[in-house]
Amino acid sequence: GGFQSMGLSYPVFKGVMKKGYKVPTPIQRKTIPVILDGKDVVAMARTGSGKTAAFLVPMFEKLKAPQAQTGARALILSPTRELALQTMKFTKELGKFTGLKTALILGGDRMDDQFAFCLLGSHGVLFLISVFFTQNHRLFEMGFAEQLQEIIRRLPDTRQTLLFSATLPKLLVEFARAGLTEPVLIRL
Ligand code: AMP
Repeated sequence: GGFQSMGLSYPVFKGVMKKGYKVPTPIQRKTIPVILDGKDVVAMARTGSGKTAAFLVPMFEKLKAPQAQTGARALILSPTRELALQTMKFTKELGKFTGLKTALILGGDRMDDQFAFCLLGSHGVLFLISVFFTQNHRLFEMGFAEQLQEIIRRLPDTRQTLLFSATLPKLLVEFARAGLTEPVLIRL
């Protein structure tokens, strides 16, 4: 099965073609149909496996239905600033034809300004947030678990939640338990 057999709408499919992707990677083949089906997913996938598109493609597809509601309809959490910036860039490229907007909120300086900016332009916006200020290996020391719990508490109860990670440390297993509902575990 290629991308054309996944039932993607034209704006999403066009983004994939513009990126030059001919066939889905193994992780994309496994995760995209399950996510399109509405399931929560825990996916273990290395950097370089195509995992970003594995969640972005079905996410675009889910967001394309017009909604009366304005404001953020998706939230992507990244563990580092660098990854947040990368994912933001990738989201804009791959989602070019979807009409979705993106906004980036980075932890650190001028947090209030960024929030104000995002709220002003929040119609149909896709929010991309890095709330974690440290390198991955330091996450455990920095109240990361508390921040995650706080974010989960503020999310709508009815939602689809996806966890993509190269590894599944205890902390992420706890997050999956608290934040995901009967997740499908996908690994290569
Ligand atoms: P990632 O694992 O998300 O960091 O992606 C690694 C690289 O694979 C990125 O440069 C993507 O643009 C690229 N990529 C993702 N999906 C595909 C695909 N289906 N075909 C070819 N390249 C891809």
